[in-house]
Amino acid sequence: MNSGNEPTNNAPARTGPHTANSAVAAAATATTVITDIAALVTNDPSLGDGSPLGLIRDAAVAIEGDRVVWIGASSKAPATDNRVDAAGRAVIPGFVDSHSHLVFAGDRTAEFHARMSGRRYEAGGIRTTVAATRAAPDAELEATLTRHLDEALRQGTTTFETKSGYGLTVEDEERALRLAARHTDEVTYLGAHVVPPDFADDPAGYVDLVTGPMLDACAPHARWIDVFCEKGAFDGDQARAILTAGKARGLHPRIHANQLSYGPGVQLAVELDAASADHCTHLTQQDVDALASGDTVATLLPGAEFSTRAEWPDARRLLDAGVTVALSTDCNPGSSYTSSMPFCIALAVRDMGMTPDEAVWAATAGGAAALRRTDVGRLTVGARADLALLDAPSPVHLAYRPGVPLVAAVWRAGRRVTGRPDPMPWDR
Ligand SMILES: [Zn+2]
Repeated sequence: MNSGNEPTNNAPARTGPHTANSAVAAAATATTVITDIAALVTNDPSLGDGSPLGLIRDAAVAIEGDRVVWIGASSKAPATDNRVDAAGRAVIPGFVDSHSHLVFAGDRTAEFHARMSGRRYEAGGIRTTVAATRAAPDAELEATLTRHLDEALRQGTTTFETKSGYGLTVEDEERALRLAARHTDEVTYLGAHVVPPDFADDPAGYVDLVTGPMLDACAPHARWIDVFCEKGAFDGDQARAILTAGKARGLHPRIHANQLSYGPGVQLAVELDAASADHCTHLTQQDVDALASGDTVATLLPGAEFSTRAEWPDARRLLDAGVTVALSTDCNPGSSYTSSMPFCIALAVRDMGMTPDEAVWAATAGGAAALRRTDVGRLTVGARADLALLDAPSPVHLAYRPGVPLVAAVWRAGRRVTGRPDPMPWDR
């Protein structure tokens, strides 16, 4: 479904507060309204309490087709075909998970078990997943992908990016992206994940492959190009060559940067106007200053630090410097096998210095910024109707009640997609 380099559903959102006239017009045609929302997160600071979350109390939201058409006080909700009573619960924009690796096969339970048991683990990390992925038939890869996407959706994720990077041959990378593009417009070519064993003696030859025949095969299926810029993976010069080649083919850059050590990735991301520098765990002051001066989002992936017992990224330092911060799961079978954005929010609040409001914003509007999207990650008139109804009166509960399945219902593009009984007990 994604035959070009632009997403098919990224029409600019009609933003800003609605006018009385547009509210009346919308009221005549709206098809569903959710009323009695105790706290509605819009991510539009011109609405509600004027905070970055644009929080409206005692709110209602109306949906027509795949769009939000009206937002306002619950007492003024328009008459519609369908009405859902939120019964004093909170509604937030669907999560935007801008970083995952979901085209894979195999299992790395033993590696995680050994790491968490303080034992050395000799088998080969990413290479284990590469071997299993190459050996898996298409149907198995796609079934695994859709199982994880459904898992994320049930937890409120309505927009997700995913990457190649476990094929590392022309055929296997092309296959991963072709399968991913059937399920999301946010597809990233990550042929430069690691240098595969077949090129261990010729990393320059592998970069030539990634920027040549592999790019030719992969570009038609992808919107983004990514590089793991790290000691033992690709250095700054290699990363620049790969991302520049991708840009020349119409792919937009994003980078795995400064995860395991200090390095050139973050400043390269800003130099190339990458949409996002992902991880940002080891940053110099120059790195922070570069992020603050450009349009590159810092995407923090606390599931990775959690699952490897590594040092946390310092979200507070970035936010205080004026950097736009996103949160994402990095869902992958090795270093961060969680698809839960609420879990990442809880970690970011507990261990990375974010306030609950900042973490909710980073997991919704921040993720949208990291994908350069304006139609998702917010609930404003004209935005895509992606909503999560929480079993809680406030979005703060996402951090306050860690590990609790608080997402009661999810709408994506105006359609309720989660598995609770339909109609739900509070439907009328
Ligand atoms: Zn990653």
